[in-house]
Amino acid sequence: MVLETRSPEETFRAGMRLGEAAVPGQVFTLTGDLGVGKTVFTQGVARGLGIQEPVSSPTFTIVQVYEEGRLPFYHFDVYRIGDVEEMDEVGFEDYVMGEGVSLIEWADLIREILPEKRTEVVIEKDLEQGFDYRKITITEIG
Ligand code: ADP
Ligand code: MG
Repeated sequence: MVLETRSPEETFRAGMRLGEAAVPGQVFTLTGDLGVGKTVFTQGVARGLGIQEPVSSPTFTIVQVYEEGRLPFYHFDVYRIGDVEEMDEVGFEDYVMGEGVSLIEWADLIREILPEKRTEVVIEKDLEQGFDYRKITITEIG
């Protein structure tokens, strides 16, 4: 599925729809350059799950856990990861195998440990379409 958005609000709403439809154990992987809108999309997913508290990228922790929604939400941002082994230390396996919804920003950095079954979200700019244009490609893997 390919979506095109022309504002942060539209990207938020796209994420929100996926959050509303998310099922226990679902894993979203987000890929795209810095500033492309991964966190905006994530904030939409969180809202779709019924999470009201503000969601930002976890800066000093790899994972941020939100329990107040319809399902637990595990938000990973692995941008600063040095080695995939750091993921073991935060209990990555337990989260992605769990009943909550996991979402990983910069998932391409930990490609080798991603679960086989996942919902891949790729966000891209196309400056010819304007500064706020984003192409969002969503693919079910596995
Ligand atoms: P990332 O997490 O990918 O580094 P962020 O979500 O933090 O990126 O930031 C995206 C930035 O791009 C925000 O400043 C947002 O306002 C801006 N933006 C402009 N147009 C869009 C759009 N169509 N979708 C998402 N973000 C957009
Ligand atoms: Mg981000």
